[in-house]
Amino acid sequence: MQVTVLELDDVDLAKLPNSVQVLTRERGALTQVRTEVVHEHASFYVAGARASALQPVSTHYWEHRFDPVTTVRLYNTLTRQKEPLMPLEQGVVRIYSCGPTVYRYVHIGNLRTFMLPDLLRRSLEYLGYRSEQVMNITDVGHLTDDTFDRGEDKMLVSARLESKSPEEIAAYYTKAFMEDAALVNIRRADHNPHATEYIPQMIELISILIAKGHAYEVDGTVYYDIASFPAYGRLSRNSTDKLLAGSRGEVDPRKRHPGDFTLWKAAGQDRLQVWSSPWGPGFPGWHIECSAMSMSLLGERFDIHTGGADNVFPHHEAELAQSEGVTGHPVVNRWMHGGLLLLAGARMAKSAGNFFRITELVDQGFDPLAFRYLALQAKYRTSLNFSTELLAGAHRALAHLRDRLADWAARADIQDGEHEADEFEARFRAAIADDLDLPGAMALVSEVMRSRMTGTDKVRLLRRWDLVLGLDLDRSTPKLDLPAGASVLLEKREHARAARDFKTADRLRDELSALGVTVTDTSQGQRWKVVRRRT
Ligand SMILES: [Zn+2]
Repeated sequence: MQVTVLELDDVDLAKLPNSVQVLTRERGALTQVRTEVVHEHASFYVAGARASALQPVSTHYWEHRFDPVTTVRLYNTLTRQKEPLMPLEQGVVRIYSCGPTVYRYVHIGNLRTFMLPDLLRRSLEYLGYRSEQVMNITDVGHLTDDTFDRGEDKMLVSARLESKSPEEIAAYYTKAFMEDAALVNIRRADHNPHATEYIPQMIELISILIAKGHAYEVDGTVYYDIASFPAYGRLSRNSTDKLLAGSRGEVDPRKRHPGDFTLWKAAGQDRLQVWSSPWGPGFPGWHIECSAMSMSLLGERFDIHTGGADNVFPHHEAELAQSEGVTGHPVVNRWMHGGLLLLAGARMAKSAGNFFRITELVDQGFDPLAFRYLALQAKYRTSLNFSTELLAGAHRALAHLRDRLADWAARADIQDGEHEADEFEARFRAAIADDLDLPGAMALVSEVMRSRMTGTDKVRLLRRWDLVLGLDLDRSTPKLDLPAGASVLLEKREHARAARDFKTADRLRDELSALGVTVTDTSQGQRWKVVRRRT
């Protein structure tokens, strides 16, 4: 039996069954084709007589002929374009998500970031894939100033401030993170590795990087040599020149290039979190943690890596350089990043003093899933403005949707909109397959509500879509007791404070007080409480 190898760079191998029937041009006879990867090229081993005369019809033909489910297209930060999803293992998508650093509570901006992989998994599962997700817990090595390695470890700062051990701090805030994520229906990942449990793997990766000339050691600290990795900067579109120009202040004189980053940091034995290593006692840098945990749990190639837009540089740029430096080949097939959450136009961050924890919104009477509803209104890649007014609007819209659903569910009418429901279903699947177009999916929810389908058909459709949306549509919504007009005033006041217009902020506080809402200013932004209405 003659075997011919045809190399086809553009063929989507992952979508092809292991063995397929193809029609040869020459004689119209069926022949068996086996697919496999040879030196990074998709190749066909074609078995059959006169195989040399066999040519594939076209790449286009292959992609569509063997597409097992709806074609999912997802944006890849590395290539700056939407690309069809091609899982390495047919039908299974493996995802690594950067998780929280557990030295403080997560805020709703962090929760929006963690909602991206949740929506991704729910959508993929809805479309017939299986998913496996790893979300790490960073419990060491996250410095207060990553850029120049001058900062303190955030875990240790919190441990000192709260008079607890780093382990106690990590356990406490890990539990708080899990509870907050559950409040907005972010499902647990399949694995939640803790960085401190992967120190040997990190040491091994660093040793390989030194052996391969990608890293160097000075006085017990190991740096990544970015000049040794020409692709450095490709993910974040930073050139090494730009990195050089962008570095301010004093540069660590031990670095060969100011942009070199720390893989292992020397530390005295009396530090709270310290491990022995070939380079002496120390602790790992933040970036190497994710290379170690992702490859340990998902292998040297996996499908998707997620994170927030603020992780692209330096964290993911560094992770890419480390993982590819070790393996010599691409490890992550696709990078996906979620847009930031803004409050009064500024990024929600602890340092900016303008963040909310989800439990605070619950204390103020909001349904926590109103935040999820709000997040679904924007494309995941764009930044989203948060305000009390917008959240109140989302809360009311969610309450209305749930009320309508309860009404329809209570009425027993016949199912007769089969055809129309099928059409809606096809559009919903197309929306989530198009780079997770959740705003598009939410627009379809509104269309279904207004449609002439029977209540029973609407309920059936919306309950099914809720597997992706995660809005608990069968739950009841707490009544928001914010007096009419108060949320607008609160939002105006948020903006006034951000603009340091304290005169206006004081006037608005008086107006709110007249409505029965007291406002206090804290280091984390304004907080309010509904008190008894004045008579
Ligand atoms: Zn990470």
